[in-house]
Amino acid sequence: MARLSGKIAIVTGAGGGIGSAIAHRFGVEGAHVWVTDINGETAEETVRSIKANGGAATAMTVDVSKSQDTTALLRNVESAHGYVDILVNNAGILVRGEIRQLSDADWTKLREVNLDAVVRLSRDVLPLFRKSKAPTIIIISSIMAYRGLRPLAAYTTTKGAISALTKGLAVEYAPFNVRVNSIAPGYVETGITDRLLKLPPVKKALIDKTPMGRLGTPEDMTGAAVFFASDDSLYCTGSELAVDGGMAAGL
Ligand code: NAD
Repeated sequence: MARLSGKIAIVTGAGGGIGSAIAHRFGVEGAHVWVTDINGETAEETVRSIKANGGAATAMTVDVSKSQDTTALLRNVESAHGYVDILVNNAGILVRGEIRQLSDADWTKLREVNLDAVVRLSRDVLPLFRKSKAPTIIIISSIMAYRGLRPLAAYTTTKGAISALTKGLAVEYAPFNVRVNSIAPGYVETGITDRLLKLPPVKKALIDKTPMGRLGTPEDMTGAAVFFASDDSLYCTGSELAVDGGMAAGL
């Protein structure tokens, strides 16, 4: 039986990579998915393929770093359905470089997409959760949230912050019956890791560090997303689940 039957979901950054895979899976599981991305064309592509699989979905161009875009998204979802059940804060960017060389502009951009947008959407969605029976927020963090990884200190700082936000919001939103959990992917082959994984020695080193002996696929992330989105996790809040082939356990 479809596990998200009749639920309304928003997935940010769902034009590609992990977000697109989660949106697809939600469609298969019976949700109506709002597929949002800064790139409207890729969002449309995801919607086309969800529909081709018999699912229901709506595409919208949303730059999560712009409050006018996220406000418009929530307004559109409210006028279409009156409420929402699931918010997946997935959109994220990577800025490579040592902190010593980090420009204010790069740090601001990284913070606006990876952290500020997650705080704003998680705050502004609350009124739309009122009519949902089991409202839930899923945050896509990283197993690198609490580790030193050169030259990614700025990126991992934003991930550490949203992992902490998961716990803080879980406590704050529990009285409203809203669950907040996060998924911490290991290394997944997507647009973000494309450049890095094109270097064969780097790819081999990362595979060697993964106890299960392979990198993740976007589809590998979808089981955890369905679990946190579905009523199977009704007593689960403030949890972070590593989906990493055992990498964090072995580090
Ligand atoms: P990706 O680059 O393939 O996908 C990210 C998507 O977000 C793209 O479709 C992009 O257009 C969209 N996006 C970028 N900026 C946006 C903005 N301002 N507003 C809306 N959409 C925007 O990368 P991915 O690996 O699928 O990343 C998804 C999430 O997973 C990110 O939060 C990332 O930090 C996290 N993550 C990825 C890995 C990995 O190894 N790939 C590991 C840990 C965590």
